[in-house]
Amino acid sequence: MKTILKLLFCIVFLFTTACNNSKSKTIAEHSSHETHWSYEGETSPIHWAEIEKNSDCDGNRQSPINIIHKLTDSVHGKSDLKIHYSPSTFIQKVENNGHSIQFNFEAGDSIHYKNDTYFLKQIHFHEPSEHKINGVIYPIEIHLVHVNKHGNITVLGILGEEGDESQLFEFLESFLPLKNGETKTIHQKLDLSDLFKHSDDYYTYGGSLTTPPCTENVSWVVFKHPIILSVEEVLKLRNNMPVNNYRNEQSVNNRIVEFNY
Ligand SMILES: [Zn+2]
Repeated sequence: MKTILKLLFCIVFLFTTACNNSKSKTIAEHSSHETHWSYEGETSPIHWAEIEKNSDCDGNRQSPINIIHKLTDSVHGKSDLKIHYSPSTFIQKVENNGHSIQFNFEAGDSIHYKNDTYFLKQIHFHEPSEHKINGVIYPIEIHLVHVNKHGNITVLGILGEEGDESQLFEFLESFLPLKNGETKTIHQKLDLSDLFKHSDDYYTYGGSLTTPPCTENVSWVVFKHPIILSVEEVLKLRNNMPVNNYRNEQSVNNRIVEFNY
């Protein structure tokens, strides 16, 4: 009888240990999976604040926003923005980082914004746009990410509308397709001035990165007038990025959006 009891005890012990092991493994797998944000399902933008602990994603100065023109403060003839882009700046490489297509730049291009210099690091794309102007969503938004020597960020946001073909996009998309995680070295000169043909009118506000950790150290400059690119060019980018790689609109709260013209 004693032996049978012992045996039973052993079976119960083994069973619970094995069970606990598998339980802790499931939790570990689950939590590592949970920290991987995305644009769909349970890890989509509306869940970022809960899955990205210690991020700013639940802050009150978040981006993107819907810019309502009549609620902006107009500032005329005093531009804080100077774009110093050189046609001889090199693009280093392009990567599909699983969230967007991103082109990284070598040193050379910079902007001067509110008495500070910010260096162009990379450009990437969202389809459709993240910012809205008067509620209007555009087919595409280009983000030109600049960083100053203290690590603060200024992003130029350029909206894209469908029309004639853009030579700039023909060039950028000549490096596609790219699979998730794939990188291609480019090391070629690129003139980005086509993006700034109508850059006199722009909106500015203080916000955040539109991807986790949603850090609230971003000065946003969103140009009022979209650039033109073809439907095919929009589709080619779209086919290389996650579907709907945009973050939902965030509350403006008590922030002031300025319109510079
Ligand atoms: Zn972006």
